[in-house]
Amino acid sequence: MSEIKRYDTVIVGARAAGASLAIELQRLGQRVAVVDRATFPSDTMSSHVVYPNTLKRFERLGVLQEILDNGPPPLYTSWIHENRMFVAPHAPIDGRDWAICIRRITLDAIMVNKAREEGADIYEGWTMTELLGSGTEEDPVNGFIAKKGDQVIQFEADVVVGADGVNSTVARLVGAQKRKIMPTDTMLYFAYWKDVDTRNTQDFFFEPPWVHAHFPADNGYHVITMNGPISERANIKNMDDFYMERLKSIPALWSRLENAQKVSRVIGTPKLEGYYRDSVGPGWLLVGDSSHFKHPAGAQGIGDALHASEAVAPMIVANNYRSEYPKWRESVSRELYAFCKHLAEVPTDEGMRKVIDAAIADPILARNLIDVWCRTSSPWKDVIPRAPFLAGIMGESVDAVLAPYEDEAELPQVANQVATA
Ligand SMILES: Cc1cc2nc3c(=O)[nH]c(=O)nc-3n(C[C@H](O)[C@H](O)[C@H](O)COP(=O)(O)OP(=O)(O)OC[C@H]3O[C@@H](n4cnc5c(N)ncnc54)[C@H](O)[C@@H]3O)c2cc1C
Repeated sequence: MSEIKRYDTVIVGARAAGASLAIELQRLGQRVAVVDRATFPSDTMSSHVVYPNTLKRFERLGVLQEILDNGPPPLYTSWIHENRMFVAPHAPIDGRDWAICIRRITLDAIMVNKAREEGADIYEGWTMTELLGSGTEEDPVNGFIAKKGDQVIQFEADVVVGADGVNSTVARLVGAQKRKIMPTDTMLYFAYWKDVDTRNTQDFFFEPPWVHAHFPADNGYHVITMNGPISERANIKNMDDFYMERLKSIPALWSRLENAQKVSRVIGTPKLEGYYRDSVGPGWLLVGDSSHFKHPAGAQGIGDALHASEAVAPMIVANNYRSEYPKWRESVSRELYAFCKHLAEVPTDEGMRKVIDAAIADPILARNLIDVWCRTSSPWKDVIPRAPFLAGIMGESVDAVLAPYEDEAELPQVANQVATA
């Protein structure tokens, strides 16, 4: 016999998307429950960089100071190619013109604790297995079943939110389709390091067809990434060995690692295709990666999840999310989705020479380019007009880049129930 609990909104997933939405909804007077099969602190695959726009959102949520107390150094951005480089700060937001790299094991626990402090009930170690209601107009979703070992709770609510990531269970159970599927040419892997000779920059080493980045992170950790062609994946027998050989081949990066320790295995995936999912229906909606994903070279997922929570919480309260949320999501995500098409491609030496030459010659171009990651600069309005050759690399317009993907949808997936993980 399951226990029954009643809330205004129930959320599956307690990380960037779920915890931030719980905070926003509690502040609007809702009674919210969040279930996650993970227990916190808990890591998840991410390279963890966020920009001044997201620092401002952390401040709004009331978690910025605790994040900074964990010591992530403020980072300007440098790009390095063939012995030349440029460094650029961001346009300041509330005086902060730097990024940080905050590991998810640190960030997500801070966010979960904040949601709890705001009054949300957080159920850690609970797996959502079944929806109540089929999600049709006649039979809206009105809750779900969650399990932890032998315990079962029936959560009843006006709205169920899937903040449950790329393999969203909520999406699967309501049969939400993926659309505008954007394949990627590149994969992304990384490892954690300690005792790295560091500086206050996040450094990108362009070694076409590979790109490596060094992100100094919180609590003395460092993230060092390897981004390269998916076509190489089948030839890599041992990912850790391959990753170390790649790092050794870059003197400027390897020299920082002389006294350093690699403290994790190499983590990552070639499965980074972009998509939108149908994200609203009777009694349900999707936020964060379950709703929309783009190549992580854009480093936008955490910030976008927080942004969506801020926007969608009042729509849930006003019960107009079904009409308003899809329009909002399209308007804020389209340009960056097009830019990520370029970021998911394999770079060339010829292209990088042109970009680095132009950025060294024009520091405003360098800042405009870097600020695309902070969403304070537009690739097509602020960057390409200063360096028109980039239209040949990034595409003539947002519409031109996205045209091949506009109508792509996978076949609907429908299931009634998933096994307890
Ligand atoms: C390699 C890589 C590097 C990245 N680097 C960056 C970066 O530098 N900067 C950046 O901003 N973004 C980055 N991202 C993207 C970022 O990690 C995601 O956008 C972000 O994690 C999305 O948060 P979310 O809350 O939507 O989903 P998730 O973080 O995936 O959280 C989903 C949660 O739902 C829970 N869940 C799922 N199903 C169930 C269920 N049935 N029952 C209970 N719980 C469930 C899971 O346990 C999980 O905790 C990167 C992504 C990858 C893959």
